[in-house]
Amino acid sequence: MPGRPPTSPIRRVLVANRGEIAVRIIRAAEDLGIETVAVYSKPDAGSAHVRRATQAVCIGPAAAAQSYLRPELLLHVATATGCDAVHPGYGFLSEDRRFARQVADADLIWIGPPADVIAQMGDKAAAREAAVRAGVPVVPGSDGVLASSGAAQAFAQSVGFPLLLKARAGGGGKGMRVVSKPDELPAAFALASQEAAGAFGDGGLYGERYLPWVRHVEIQVFGDRHGQVRYLGERDCSLQRRHQKVVEEAPSPAVRPELRERLGHAAVSLAESVGYVGAGTVEFLLDADTDTFYFIEMNTRIQVEHALTEEITGVDLVALQFKVAQGEPLSLPDTTPRGHAFEFRVTAEDWHRNFAPSPGTLRVFEPPTGPGVRVDTHCSSGWVVSPYYDSLLAKLIVHGTDRFEALRRAKRALAEFQVEGVATTLPLHQALLEAPAVVHGDYSTRWLEDWVSANGEEAETT
Ligand code: ADP
Repeated sequence: MPGRPPTSPIRRVLVANRGEIAVRIIRAAEDLGIETVAVYSKPDAGSAHVRRATQAVCIGPAAAAQSYLRPELLLHVATATGCDAVHPGYGFLSEDRRFARQVADADLIWIGPPADVIAQMGDKAAAREAAVRAGVPVVPGSDGVLASSGAAQAFAQSVGFPLLLKARAGGGGKGMRVVSKPDELPAAFALASQEAAGAFGDGGLYGERYLPWVRHVEIQVFGDRHGQVRYLGERDCSLQRRHQKVVEEAPSPAVRPELRERLGHAAVSLAESVGYVGAGTVEFLLDADTDTFYFIEMNTRIQVEHALTEEITGVDLVALQFKVAQGEPLSLPDTTPRGHAFEFRVTAEDWHRNFAPSPGTLRVFEPPTGPGVRVDTHCSSGWVVSPYYDSLLAKLIVHGTDRFEALRRAKRALAEFQVEGVATTLPLHQALLEAPAVVHGDYSTRWLEDWVSANGEEAETT
C-alpha cells in the first residue's frame, strides 16, 4: 500500500455488502470503536445493516449490477464519507482484484489480501499450479486450462473417467460438469464453457479426476503484514447440494489431530508461498479412508461459515481482519478446537419443490436464543425477502462441549426458530438431524444430494 505507515488505525470503514455479513462486519467494527458507512440498494432501505451503521448511503436500484457491484461508485462513497478502509464481505466484489487495486490506489485500506494474490487464487487453474509449487497435493488434473474440446479428450485419456470439468474463474458450484464417459465429453465441454462464460465472463475450463466419495474439509488461515501465517483448524462442508454448502460443522468428524496438523501445514505452506495477508480459506477434498487430501481452491475472503471457527476457537475472525489490515501482528491464542459447532444455512427456499426460491414478507421471524446458540441475520418480522439477492435469511450456529451436545442444541434451536410468510429450509434441517449419517457424521459430498432425491418428494405427502 503506497505511502502508508506499517500500522495505521482504521477509523471509519465502508461496508461494501448487504445482508447478514454487512451486519456482522458492523458489529466487529463497533466492538473495535470503528465507525461504519453502510451502502444499500432501494429495497434494502429498511435492512438491519442500514439501521446499525454510523451512516448509510443509497447506491441505486435493486439489481446488483446497478448497486452492490459498482466499484467506482462504492469508491466514491468511501472517499466522500471520509472512510479510510473498505470491507468487502463475501460475494459481490470481495474477490474482484480490480476493486481491491482501486481501493489501495486511492490510499484506502483494503480489508483482504493484496490484489495480485486475489488474482492468482481467483484463477483456479493458476491456484492449482501454486499449490503444486508449494508442495501441496492437488486432485490429479490438467496442466492449466484446456484450450479446446480436443485438449479435453487428450486429458481424459490420461486421467480416465469420471472426470470433472471446472471453470477456471469458478465459484458457487457454477460451470462445473461431471463427465462419466467419452461420448459425453464434447457436449459437456461446450456447456460448461458456455455456463462459465455467462456466469464469470470467462469460459476457460480445466479438468480434474472426479472423486465421488470424499469429504470437503477446509482450513481457515490468517496472514499478517509481517509475513506470519497461521491456521485455525478446519470446517467440514461436505453436506452440499449442487456443490453448494447447506450445513457445516467443525471440527470435522473425519479429522484427528495428526491429520489436522498435516492439513494445516499444507494450507499455511500455500498461503505463505503467495504472500497471503488477511483471512483466507484453503479447501481440500479428503478421502477419509486413507487420510489422503487434495487441494481444490483457495477463497481470498471471509467465508459464510467463518462463525464455526469463531465458536470453537473463541477468536473473532472479522475483528482480526480489521486488526491485520491495520498492520497489527497476528497474536492468536491456542487454537486447538474447543467443543463442537454446527452451522445451518436458513434460506428462503422450498426444499419439497426442488428448492424453489420463496420471496415474500416475513410475517413472523423469531430466531432461537439460549446457551450455545448464535444467529447471524439481517432479518426481522416484517422484512421483505426480495428475489434480487441470494436467499440466505440467517445462519444458525450452535456450539456444544461435544458433538452430541451440539446436535441436541441444534434440535432445540431449530424447533424454537419461528418463521412465517415464506418457505424456509428449517424443516429440511430438522429432517437432516434425524438421518443416521448426519447423526454419526458419516457422509460424503454426494450424500445430501442422494438423500434429498430419496426424501424430498416422500416428505411432501406426509
Ligand atoms: P466452487 O469454486 O464453485 O465452489 P470448488 O472447486 O470449491 O468450486 O468445488 C465445490 C465442490 O465441488 C466441492 O466441495 C466438491 O463437493 C465438488 N468438487 C470439486 N472438485 C471435485 C473433484 N475433483 N471431485 C469430486 N468433487 C469435486
